Amino acid sequence: MIELNLNNLTNDFPLLNKLMALEEVVWFNPNVTTLDQGLPYVGLDEEDIHDASLRLQRFAPYLAKAFPETQLSNGIIESDLVDIPTMKTALEAYYQLPIKGRLMMKKDSHLPISGSIKARGGIYEVLTHAEKLAFEAGLLSESDDYSKLLEPEFREFFKQYSIAVGSTGNLGMSIGIMSAKLGFTVSVHMSADARAWKKNKLREHGVNVVEYEQDYGVAVEQGRKEAELDPSCFFIDDENSKTLFLGYSVAGERLKQQFAQQQIVVDEAHPLFVYLPCGVGGGPGGVAFGLKMAFGDHVHCLFAEPTHSPCMLLGVHTGLHDEIAVQDLGIDNLTAADGLAVGRASGFVGRAMERLLDGYYTLTDERMYQLLGQLNQAEAIKLEPSALAGMPGPIHVEHNTEYMTRLGIDDSTLSNSTHLVWATGGGMVPEQEMAMYLAKSSI
Ligand SMILES: *Cc1c(COP(=O)(O)O)cnc(C)c1O
Repeated sequence: MIELNLNNLTNDFPLLNKLMALEEVVWFNPNVTTLDQGLPYVGLDEEDIHDASLRLQRFAPYLAKAFPETQLSNGIIESDLVDIPTMKTALEAYYQLPIKGRLMMKKDSHLPISGSIKARGGIYEVLTHAEKLAFEAGLLSESDDYSKLLEPEFREFFKQYSIAVGSTGNLGMSIGIMSAKLGFTVSVHMSADARAWKKNKLREHGVNVVEYEQDYGVAVEQGRKEAELDPSCFFIDDENSKTLFLGYSVAGERLKQQFAQQQIVVDEAHPLFVYLPCGVGGGPGGVAFGLKMAFGDHVHCLFAEPTHSPCMLLGVHTGLHDEIAVQDLGIDNLTAADGLAVGRASGFVGRAMERLLDGYYTLTDERMYQLLGQLNQAEAIKLEPSALAGMPGPIHVEHNTEYMTRLGIDDSTLSNSTHLVWATGGGMVPEQEMAMYLAKSSI
């Protein structure tokens, strides 16, 4: 660990004063590069995404049977892309500013199996591990119909192995539900901010839930330690896993298909802006990587974080990545956005992706609740607080003249642009819990 000198740091990076004051901030990174220049730093490529995509296709027949809610999509776990024009009007009224582009939402909040963006990465990593074990044991080959994994023999086989993960809630849900379904013995180490209903749901699925009074970082560390003591245990490392990252990245080619189906063009004259809520960074980082590979330089990705947990902004802005935590600045990492309650960003994602991410901003919990109520009223879409983090993005982008000028985007190009808010969770929130969320909005 490096010795941090706060005075020097705030001198070098005055923006940190605002972060410490818990003000909402926006930062457009002036050091972004083209995809060609930035890609070598990611260390992954098209081939890796393709490999992940094929693996998900191999598992699709199994998933369609194991989770009937995926039958309609033939076992492919994917979410809808929808227009939210009434919300656009509500946002314009709320901020008293116009939005020229089209406003859309990607409903990962309603992904099957676990109702959050983690149904991409988390489930993919469990499937990857299961496939590897079954291949090594000679029980499965790539050309098999994977629905044979439903047979009791496979459940018996996977029972000998365990899986562990540390989570603020949604990753635990995805990994817990998927692992238990295959037959694995699975432990989810949950931080203090994880919601009780998520813990209960996991226990119903037969998952061993270990609770901590500390935050995400501690839950992950303890999970990692416990897993090290058991050679048959596989620890899913949210902070560093390239497998998780690749599971998320498949979203890029899927979205490209959806855009083509809806005849939405992305090119120089029709830029696409995507707003991704960021916790440790794997989810938004993986999705952004996939989007860059699918759409190239005309997709612009921004990360959104709570004012109390701006770990990725802090890591990238200072260049210290995972060598600094928000707590080092006296920021408490306490937020209602439980999916984003992370004090220290993934060092892998920040270093891999910083050249390919246009900007970062923060928002208060109060604003997330307010937007949560507005979206429900405008579009009858119910999300958990974390998932609203992307919503202010279009305002920040369209009204930052310096950024627009740097990109060479004028008003008429803006009118042809698409703003995509990535809704990351909420589809499985129980009604009572949702009523509590809605009550916090003054709508
Ligand atoms: C996990 C999560 C995120 C962010 O993903 P990270 O990989 O932690 O950055 C965003 N929204 C919700 C609802 C989540 O559960």
